[in-house]
Amino acid sequence: MPSPTAIESRSVSFKYANQSVLTDITFSIGAGELVALIGPNGSGKTTLLKILLGFLPPSAGSVTLGAKPLSSYAPKERAKQIAYVSQQPQLSFPLTAFQLVSLGRYPHGPRGRLSSVDKLAVETALGHTDAMNLSERNFNTLSGGEKQKVLIARALAQSARILLLDEPTLHLDLYYQLQILTALKNLCREQGIAVITVLHDVNLVSLFADKALLLSDGSLRAFGPVAEVVTEASIRELLGVEMKAIDNDQTGARYFVPQQPFSR
Ligand code: ADP
Repeated sequence: MPSPTAIESRSVSFKYANQSVLTDITFSIGAGELVALIGPNGSGKTTLLKILLGFLPPSAGSVTLGAKPLSSYAPKERAKQIAYVSQQPQLSFPLTAFQLVSLGRYPHGPRGRLSSVDKLAVETALGHTDAMNLSERNFNTLSGGEKQKVLIARALAQSARILLLDEPTLHLDLYYQLQILTALKNLCREQGIAVITVLHDVNLVSLFADKALLLSDGSLRAFGPVAEVVTEASIRELLGVEMKAIDNDQTGARYFVPQQPFSR
């Protein structure tokens, strides 16, 4: 049985001033799906996330959240539904990691007071990203990778049904890349959360994502199950890179190995 729709983009287009950045983007993402957003730099990935989040209004088309248009949600109600981890390694906050993650609870209650439910949500989020040991550290003194884990925990603490992430594995070493993606995958499987994440590493896409959205020049080139849409041919066309696909028949996993010369 198909899972209920979590978020839907219908014929969405967007322009910055006169520059067209997204054109006629249509897709629908179900609860519990982990979707990778792939495309070259400047293809419109961040802009699309900002539209799905309600930060930018589409110039044409619409986004639907559950059964209602995104535009009909008040900001606090929207924040209960969608959480976002942006790509901002330079962020600084004069707060401890615990206090920063607590900010994720803002849609759920009065400012400044944490209920026992809030506290549990914060601790659970820090546990999911293996950042509990950073709780009392000043956020500004953390490394890029540690900051990233705390920012992801803040989004998880929001208890939203949809998580949007812009390159969440940036700054993380391989161990933590795998750990964060495993945590996201578990949230999808166990709690039916829908995740849309920008990912540049096609091997991580292949290992973790259920579906992929391929974007170039602001147009959707393909959307569907990863095994169908992430192929040698689509990677060559999308990213201008020659990759050899190697299938492991026993596990069903597919690996991509870069080939020389690059065609870009
Ligand atoms: P990606 O995330 O795929 O790298 P973006 O969505 O950031 O792509 O950008 C898509 C296009 O929109 C790029 O050409 C970029 O220069 C342009 N763009 C992004 N933000 C702005 C802005 N605030 N004002 C004008 N143009 C922008």
